[in-house]
Amino acid sequence: MRQRGIPLFTVLGIKVVADYSWFLIVALIAGTLTVLWFPSGLPERSTFHYILLGVVTAFFFFASVLVHELSHSIVAVLHGIPVKRITLFLFGGVAEITREPSDPKTELKIALAGPATSAVLAAICWGVVLLIGPDSARPGLRLAFMYLGLANTFLLGFNLLPGLPLDGGRVLRAIVWSVTKNLRRATYIASIAGKALAGLLVLGGIFAILVLSGSYIIPGLWFIFIALFLRQAADSTYRQVVMRETLSGVRILDVMTSDVETVPPEISLTDLVDVYFLRHHFICYPVVDSGRPLGLVTIRDVKHVPRERWEDTTVAEAMTPLTEDTSLSPDDDVPTAMRKMSVSGLGRLPVLVEGSLVGIVTRRDIMNHLQIRTDLGE
Ligand SMILES: [Zn+2]
Repeated sequence: MRQRGIPLFTVLGIKVVADYSWFLIVALIAGTLTVLWFPSGLPERSTFHYILLGVVTAFFFFASVLVHELSHSIVAVLHGIPVKRITLFLFGGVAEITREPSDPKTELKIALAGPATSAVLAAICWGVVLLIGPDSARPGLRLAFMYLGLANTFLLGFNLLPGLPLDGGRVLRAIVWSVTKNLRRATYIASIAGKALAGLLVLGGIFAILVLSGSYIIPGLWFIFIALFLRQAADSTYRQVVMRETLSGVRILDVMTSDVETVPPEISLTDLVDVYFLRHHFICYPVVDSGRPLGLVTIRDVKHVPRERWEDTTVAEAMTPLTEDTSLSPDDDVPTAMRKMSVSGLGRLPVLVEGSLVGIVTRRDIMNHLQIRTDLGE
């Protein structure tokens, strides 16, 4: 699931990105708070007062979502599983954990970290509501904490529903996994549960629209919208596990291309574009100096340099240098390559033996290989 968005900030080494759809939900929540929640609980205040309360409360709501995702991420990182980024989008947040946990216990801990955090936040908010009390001089503050208490309770409850991709689905998967010792089977069962949940949500949505109607039509549509998203995500989680399992025994040697087109480090970006990018269809080249690979140069690297400087910028200056994370050995397995591609954002990685280039692997090579194996019924 690749989402485009706007990078917001980096926290604890994890990039936080806002998908474009997220701004819609921000506007919706801040709007509902400003126009409905605060005016109905706190009548006869100025518009400015409502906007201020609405915006500040919406900010803390999204902070709650982020803290929930961060807690999953922190537990994953503590167990040696890197987290690429957290994407905030229409339905909340997703922490992009780069690989599946290696055992059910780790899976369970990562899955429960989010709901546990939401439970603590909900308890704090309800505690503050009780402390302030109904007759206090600060009714606005009390209403804000009441909203945040409800929101965190909802985050807790919804995420614990037992179907993938929700946290409850991960808990279910961890339990089935520890009983059957079979990740694929456990993922299958948890994804079926996810699809069943999605089905129930659709039925609920249809009921709201046709039977309750009136002001229930919009929430009903929302239910159906969320259900479609859940169904799709449940499917893709299962497909990924199957794909990883199919490819885990395949070595890089079996999927790589040995005949590699390379570029020298000293040519200018103008030459790179004219001679290589525009004449061949490749969008990424290994940079090689007398047999020694130095890095990779992609269209993305070139685009980072302003066009007027292409003539006097060399490939060596613009390239992405090779590291452990952007190169492979012929004996690595395919899931390792996919993980490195996902972390680096590169679609092609060079294959090295004792510091010399022996081949290149592209995402397309891997997909073709998978397609052939699938067609052969493996
Ligand atoms: Zn969660």
